[in-house]
Amino acid sequence: MDLLTQRYLASLRETLLDRARQLQDEVHVGDLAGRGGAGERETRDFKDEAARRAHDAVGAREVQRDIDELRQVQAALYRLDAGVYGDCIDCGEPIVFARLRVHPAAERCAACQMIFETGAGAASAPAGDTPRRA
Ligand SMILES: [Zn+2]
Repeated sequence: MDLLTQRYLASLRETLLDRARQLQDEVHVGDLAGRGGAGERETRDFKDEAARRAHDAVGAREVQRDIDELRQVQAALYRLDAGVYGDCIDCGEPIVFARLRVHPAAERCAACQMIFETGAGAASAPAGDTPRRA
């Protein structure tokens, strides 16, 4: 590994650590909002309560997305420590730097990611997107 690569990985590590901290904050805040500070909200009426619940449902999805991304970021940091960062977890080929610069937590090369996404999408199609029976 040359010096440039080491520097590059060091800066990527900083990016990933920053992102992890940011996500941890968001997840924490979202978590608190989801549980609801009952003490402060007792005076609200039902309409506010309904709005809050709707907001919580959106918040819960956002928290889940943050948790997913946090998991990926932490996995990337782990791979950095293990010295296998930048290798595609599916085919084992190095992921191109251009891709890692945009997605520092990328686990797969572009080709495998596409296969993963189309494969996963077909396997767990969301409700309402069920293929019609002939
Ligand atoms: Zn791959």
